[in-house]
Amino acid sequence: MQQPRPLSPRTHAKKGACALCGRYARLTEAHVPPRAAFNDGVSRRGRISAEQRLELDRGRPGGIRVPAHCDACRAETSPWDDEYIKWATFWAEGLVVLEGHGANGIRATIPGARPGRFIRAALAGMTAVAEGLVGTHPDLIAAIRASDGKAWEGDRRFLMALTPPTEGASVGGMHRGMQIHFSITGTDVRAPAPAPSAVIHHVPLSLLLVDAAIADEYPHVDCTGWLAESAVAAEQDLELSLPVVRLSSGTTWQPESFEEAHL
Ligand SMILES: [Zn+2]
Repeated sequence: MQQPRPLSPRTHAKKGACALCGRYARLTEAHVPPRAAFNDGVSRRGRISAEQRLELDRGRPGGIRVPAHCDACRAETSPWDDEYIKWATFWAEGLVVLEGHGANGIRATIPGARPGRFIRAALAGMTAVAEGLVGTHPDLIAAIRASDGKAWEGDRRFLMALTPPTEGASVGGMHRGMQIHFSITGTDVRAPAPAPSAVIHHVPLSLLLVDAAIADEYPHVDCTGWLAESAVAAEQDLELSLPVVRLSSGTTWQPESFEEAHL
């Protein structure tokens, strides 16, 4: 009987089309959302017990890892992750403070923010789950890579909201019908079109890249305009007002699946 051969890490190195430049290359794993964006990348699922007490599980690694970007594109885009982590930390701390106050939405000023950098970090991560986006939307990819800022008015919109600290993670994408999904509830996703190209619903943020035709139906705020701002702009104090949303069923990413939540 043959013994199975041990697998070396090299065995798992994957080649494919880079999600940002489209070149066939060895791909590095993209962590979506960026590792340590909040809570060391661990999502804790909360539920209300029969005694009406909030219970949190031990948590599982949040987000997903997808072989997506070539070394050059990874090197170009990964420096933006610091801004994503900064925003996630800011909102996560604010949500914990506000939890239990019954707030519907939150208005806050992010000190030292660079929205042109944040949206590029988020969208670069989203290319890892929006399979084929570089082929169908090369102009959007070009806007993402234009670190000095480039406005984009296309048929996809970048939407943003907040999620309660107890919300589970749902990260994936269904661009061109390709389904990649991760959910800590273990439920599968079989949503009819038009499904979002990419979803990063991961405490404390709920980020969507959706068809412009149905963008207004989501409770989120359209922040696509941040692409016009530079990723290396001077830091600014940015006032934002965002709804708090919960993914109600966890089985689809349709507009009706997201409901506004109280903290
Ligand atoms: Zn590349």
